[in-house]
Amino acid sequence: MSSPITDLIHHPYAPPAGFAAPQPGVFKASTVIFPNVAAMRARDWKQKGGYTYGLHGTPTTFLLEERIAALEGGKHCLLVPSGLAAIANVSLSLLGAGDEVLVPDNAYGPNKALAEGELQQWGITHQFYDPMDPADLQSRLGPRTKLVWLEAPGSVTMEFPPLARQAAICRERGVTTALDSTWSSGLAYNGFDLGGPMGSGADIVVHALTKYPSGGGDVLMGAVVTRDDALHLKLKLTHMRLGLGVGANDAEAILRSLPSLALRYHAQDQAARRLAAWLRQRPEVARVLHPAFEGSPGHAHWQATCGADGAAAGLFSVTFHERYSPRQVDAFCDALELFKLGYSWGGPVSLVVPYDLATMRSARFGGTLCRGMLVRFSVGLEAVSDLQLDLEHALAALG
Ligand SMILES: *Cc1c(COP(=O)(O)O)cnc(C)c1O
Repeated sequence: MSSPITDLIHHPYAPPAGFAAPQPGVFKASTVIFPNVAAMRARDWKQKGGYTYGLHGTPTTFLLEERIAALEGGKHCLLVPSGLAAIANVSLSLLGAGDEVLVPDNAYGPNKALAEGELQQWGITHQFYDPMDPADLQSRLGPRTKLVWLEAPGSVTMEFPPLARQAAICRERGVTTALDSTWSSGLAYNGFDLGGPMGSGADIVVHALTKYPSGGGDVLMGAVVTRDDALHLKLKLTHMRLGLGVGANDAEAILRSLPSLALRYHAQDQAARRLAAWLRQRPEVARVLHPAFEGSPGHAHWQATCGADGAAAGLFSVTFHERYSPRQVDAFCDALELFKLGYSWGGPVSLVVPYDLATMRSARFGGTLCRGMLVRFSVGLEAVSDLQLDLEHALAALG
């Protein structure tokens, strides 16, 4: 069996007869035409044996679904218009009035906002849990808990949780887990097989394809991946009823980027580590948060999950010494020229976002990461030496 990286390039795809191009075609449809009434009645949109309607899949989206399922080590994949839509698809499918969902306190912000917004409004309660303390998660599991979200590492603050332990705790209690595995991109760890003594993994893996799989900073898409047929069907019924389709041109853009996914991921990982190591030596910097760095929160969990010389995304965060005011940190971000101010990550352009931790973390769980300013860096594909010079110039603007 070849590695998933090779499978992203060599994959079952039958081009039209006589046209053996390596890249798949773009098939667009709302309507799909049936040869007769019997065929129309017989075709089941839930099965991939045939096509029924554009929203239920085309040759282009089916192919991308197969590739993402293979990348994540899953069996089924649903494509949705964004990473956030993938999160919403899962929560709306598995939760009903009277149920409770648990979300890590350092989760991707809009996942928490969905719990506080629509879910709350529909009678679904939530609790945020300490991502680094399995006992805290365990103590919050109750008879009404129907879904536990996992994420590694935490968005923005980058703590790497004891993922295998968390999944095992939920499995023991029979609670479904959904892991936001965007950072791993199917490369740093496998969300369905997290190792550890229990050999546990998540039941559902979601992935913002917007990030590394797109790689261009130009396409929004998400994926919901499962291994279990019944769970997939439940998610697919919600997917259909919410009308969550994706466009063929966007699917094709991601199919074109997948063969270079691993190369880009590892190059951006290496570049980020070089810049993070350089920043760590600087007198202005208080802390560099990167799960592969010793002393970063959850470093041992990263090692256990990804391997001692495992991979990481090209992301890290930095806090500056307390003598610098939030205004000075803003001035640093404004002084950067190659690092642009912008959300998202995984594209060719390096990005920064300044965050005020007090607005995003509860003081209860955040430890030292619950107040002050933090700058999140996403490293693109520029020359590392140019990026380092950019940082050096901007540090002068800190004052
Ligand atoms: C970006 C991101 C998402 C959401 O993806 P969008 O396509 O921007 O909606 C979800 N989870 C994580 C961890 C992300 O980084």
